[in-house]
Amino acid sequence: MYFLGIDFGTTGARACVIDAQGAVVVEDKRDFGTLEDYERAGVWREALWDLVAALPAVVRSALSDIALDGTSGTVLACDEELSPRHPPLLYDDGRAVEEAALIAKTATSDHAAAAPTSGLAKILWLKKRLGLTGARLYLNQADWLAGMLSGRVGMTDYHNALKMGFDLEDLRWPAWVDYLADVDYLPVALAPGTRLATVSRPRARYLGVNPGCMVHAGTTDSIAAFLASGMQRSGDAVTSLGSTLVLKLLSDVRVESGAHGIYSHWFGGRWLAGGASNAGGAVLRQFFDDRQLAALSAGIDASLASPLAYMPLPRPGERFPVNDPALAPRLAPRPRDDREFLHGLLESLARIEARGYGLLAELGATPPARVRTAGGGARNAAWTGIRARLLNVPVAPATHTDAAYGAARLALEGTRCFSPAP
Ligand code: ADP
Repeated sequence: MYFLGIDFGTTGARACVIDAQGAVVVEDKRDFGTLEDYERAGVWREALWDLVAALPAVVRSALSDIALDGTSGTVLACDEELSPRHPPLLYDDGRAVEEAALIAKTATSDHAAAAPTSGLAKILWLKKRLGLTGARLYLNQADWLAGMLSGRVGMTDYHNALKMGFDLEDLRWPAWVDYLADVDYLPVALAPGTRLATVSRPRARYLGVNPGCMVHAGTTDSIAAFLASGMQRSGDAVTSLGSTLVLKLLSDVRVESGAHGIYSHWFGGRWLAGGASNAGGAVLRQFFDDRQLAALSAGIDASLASPLAYMPLPRPGERFPVNDPALAPRLAPRPRDDREFLHGLLESLARIEARGYGLLAELGATPPARVRTAGGGARNAAWTGIRARLLNVPVAPATHTDAAYGAARLALEGTRCFSPAP
């Protein structure tokens, strides 16, 4: 039997099929290219059908389970047959400024839904424009795609629902969301990985997929990437060293701080706490290309602390672990020796990471006990050594980091992904 995960990211969609032992069997991807807004939903739908139909026939006919992840906060307004009534609003669409202010006033100003990019702000923005004649259902990207596969429409998951205002303590839409948005138009939220329904009969026949194949409630792309790491114990953490520095920590305690952009996602009886700094690999790239980074890093002695204290921001402004919209980058003095300069940059980035986990722990989260790394910086052994020295816990690259692999794990394990490790 095989298990399929499909990740809808910002630039394309990826499929990953694993077997019951979690070994990768097939991987595939489709790039979206440059799209006009009105083309987007159609291209996503085609990518979904195409990624499934292009799997080898032996895999399709023995496909047991499917789960999908999408970009968090990408919202579609559709009719009950899932036809979009408006081009999707993408994750970073910031037009819903008035709506975000209304949410901040009605809920609390530091609620995860009180931002112009939140799912709820986008729903209010769309409702205002579509009126009563338009949409009957507001869905996240992953909900919409899962609905098309199963034919069971109007479902979401606790991860995608967070920024729609879903109450993760009571596991229901709070009264203030009903007051603002009318929950009849909102999806029913279930635990990520919940069995939704089998692939709809006509769809299964058309795609050549095992008709008993189960579609599961999905998740967001960043949580799928965490699931890919296989981390499951409280105190397990994943740092993503991409263009920005993103921390995720599995905690027994829920921590929230709107001012620092910290919020916790549902994780069974536990919480996945996260924070994101504006600092990260983007600053390294301002000075060095990837080849130079690898060559210079090879000469760095990670056991020695660099005395250089930089603030490696690409532009002014930081939110986590320091909340200061005016915080200025500081990248001087630059030593003549590039290796010393890079050592200082990596040490300064590692200090931000250590301070980030420190802040999460100060707010009450389970302190990190081991850290896995994803993103372009994960392969840098010197940086890993510097980070292990400052974090004082074991640090290693994650074996799997692709969100599609995490979604495949969700297909394989369902809601067991969120149980404590035995
Ligand atoms: P994203 O998807 O966030 O843009 P990636 O995960 O692809 O980022 O990582 C790209 C980043 O990784 C770049 O900012 C680059 O500076 C950094 N990077 C690439 N190679 C190395 C290396 N050997 N050491 C440290 N950083 C690196």
